[in-house]
Amino acid sequence: MLQAARQGGAGVLGTLLSHWQGHAPREVILCQCGQRMRSRGRRRKGLVTTLGRVPFARSFYQCPPCSQGRFPDDERLDIVQTIYSPGVRRLMARAGSQSQFAQAAADLRCYAGLTLEAREIERVAEEVGHQVEQWLSAQQEQILQTVGTPAPAAASEAKFYISFDGTGVPVRKSELLGRRGKQADGSARTREAKLGCVFTQVGLDKEGYPQREPHSTTYVGAIESSTLFGWRLYTEALRRGLEQAHTVVVLTDGARYNRTIIQTHFHDAVHIVDLFHAYEHLTTLAQILWGQEAKAPKAWRDWLEAGDIGRLIRQAGKQLPASAKSKKSMRKQLRYFENNAPQMRYAEYREKKFFVGSGVVEAGCRTVIGERLKQSGMRWSVRGANAIIALRCCILSGRFEDFWASRTP
Ligand SMILES: [Zn+2]
Repeated sequence: MLQAARQGGAGVLGTLLSHWQGHAPREVILCQCGQRMRSRGRRRKGLVTTLGRVPFARSFYQCPPCSQGRFPDDERLDIVQTIYSPGVRRLMARAGSQSQFAQAAADLRCYAGLTLEAREIERVAEEVGHQVEQWLSAQQEQILQTVGTPAPAAASEAKFYISFDGTGVPVRKSELLGRRGKQADGSARTREAKLGCVFTQVGLDKEGYPQREPHSTTYVGAIESSTLFGWRLYTEALRRGLEQAHTVVVLTDGARYNRTIIQTHFHDAVHIVDLFHAYEHLTTLAQILWGQEAKAPKAWRDWLEAGDIGRLIRQAGKQLPASAKSKKSMRKQLRYFENNAPQMRYAEYREKKFFVGSGVVEAGCRTVIGERLKQSGMRWSVRGANAIIALRCCILSGRFEDFWASRTP
């Protein structure tokens, strides 16, 4: 019955399309060069729609001086240079962003009765991912133009959080030329994808801990330089209402490039270094001094929780490891605390009921990037990985429908 209904629907759609073409207002078709284009008759293409294949013929126009061609009906229907309708492309992009392309092909056959090659799903998902990127960067420009203009929305009472982190994505050898990595021989296997998230906090849960506003998290990410990523994150924060927020908190793991992004874009925010990363560094300190099984003394942990980093550094610094190598790594760990001390006033943050952990972005690294891009045997091109990251950020931020709506003339 479903098969028959789909076939019947495809027939109706074909009739509707030719009716729509027959009643379209006649207009002059111009070339990019400004010349009037001439009709060169109709050309056919089989259109793959969510109802199945629909035969479709449309007028082809050509420019006499420069011989450029155009299919105006394709432009109106958003099917330029593709046989897939927007509805099918949406399914292909979504399925391809959720699971491996072969799996996506099997899912679409089962859920939508569409028989599509895995390779086609890959190609279309990548294409749609790039269109999402273009849509986002056009919005970025618009948003940046309105910075500083009086905001129409009322100032928000919610606490506004920005958090970001990086995670390695396995890439093809050709994407790693000249890059140093963490492998034993100094080579690299991965490129770092940066992920940022913005969320808001209202009130506290029953135990008095800060509570994230449900569905308030949006994501941005890419394999790109920290400069470009800084602008990407900044415009996302602006879009979410950075300028209207009373309290802005930036949560990071304390890596160096973080500070540059914060100084450039989030100068007035409260910067907090993730407490759990700080704990890890504390444990590393203890291990350097007392061996692999060692844990940080209770006093150290209490000073960390209290945000008394000066005391922690003084006391821990009194211990001296034996070997020169250990001394060096000891100094490195102490430097981490020195550099980040102003962002480790944990007692004060707890009193103000701020989040002190970057768990949201770390979970994001797993769900947005890891689950799709870091499965065994995967080797991405940077271009392909960025397309899928763009799709996943868009979908998980609840903006995929907005993207498709923006394509409707
Ligand atoms: Zn022309």
